[in-house]
Amino acid sequence: MNIQDLIRPTVKALKPYSSARDEYQGNSADMVFLDANENPFENGVNRYPDPQQRTVKSLLSEIKSIPQKNILLGNGSDEVLDLIYRAFCEPNQDNIITLPPTYGMYSVLANINAVGIKSVQLDVRFQPKVDEILSIADLNSKLLFLCSPNNPTGNSFEAVAVEKLIRSFKGIVVIDEAYIDFSNEESWASRLNEFPNLIVTQTLSKAYGMAGIRLGICYASEEIISVLNRIKPPYNVNELTQQKAIAQLEQNELTQNQVREILEERDVLVKQLQNVGFVSKIYPTDANFVLAKVDDATKRYNQLIEKGIVVRNRTTQPGCENCLRFTVGTPEENKILLDTLKSIG
Ligand SMILES: *Cc1c(COP(=O)(O)O)cnc(C)c1O
Repeated sequence: MNIQDLIRPTVKALKPYSSARDEYQGNSADMVFLDANENPFENGVNRYPDPQQRTVKSLLSEIKSIPQKNILLGNGSDEVLDLIYRAFCEPNQDNIITLPPTYGMYSVLANINAVGIKSVQLDVRFQPKVDEILSIADLNSKLLFLCSPNNPTGNSFEAVAVEKLIRSFKGIVVIDEAYIDFSNEESWASRLNEFPNLIVTQTLSKAYGMAGIRLGICYASEEIISVLNRIKPPYNVNELTQQKAIAQLEQNELTQNQVREILEERDVLVKQLQNVGFVSKIYPTDANFVLAKVDDATKRYNQLIEKGIVVRNRTTQPGCENCLRFTVGTPEENKILLDTLKSIG
């Protein structure tokens, strides 16, 4: 497969903006920086941030065992996903494939970028229908989105199915691993060398506890990373975000402990939900949330709101009729949820 053939002609022809920090990359403290029209008086953020976020990437590289040259960072994974659209999808011509019920941003971004949407609903076990997906793809199908573990269902996709899709799909396969840090499955990022058309996205918004700083991660071949670097805003990850991310990644132990606690709490939540009379099904989950089928999702959602508890009503999603999605909270929050569910039942 030739990745160059998938890139939009405008992006291929583009001469990227070269920032002051791109042209001089040294960071030695005794240099005199008079190149970027900054205010020279030091306050911690008077200088432009590192456009390549080298310190953040080196920490991530170590934690995730992925070479730094295969990493690109963005203002949340939402920016990373938008960059992928703008690199590969020609407006009013190309299309993407999404597998509902899944994360809504893939369709929203397609609509923003005037890109067509083909969808193939997941099967009853919320697994991809591989043959149907491959048969619906056409020459303009540039991106296939696999969300694993999937939001809102919580399950991971079977490796055999994912591998067949990566090998057979003629465009780029994007695996959204926003919840991978809660899962025992291995990240597909460890297999980038095998698959030139693979992009894996992750985020600091979920397990790493940093939704507020907006830091999304993209892992791909050097070739794809260099295409995305051409079109990203030069200083897309701000200095405060980089500093916070560095501090958090340096205490990775803390994150691992929190993940362990969240998973223990999730098991308690799953067990206790079985004792709620109007819950008829609890779906298997590899993430920090639980999807459950109830008698009347909208009624139960409204009752919870009245008691001051906000959950996600997924009833309008295909295959998720009367389903509520519960994020795992602190032990205290989960107890409040369960007590309330039992009291309204
Ligand atoms: C939460 C979530 C993200 C995270 O997006 P950010 O912009 O990094 O906060 C990405 N994909 C899925 C499926 C999610 O649920």
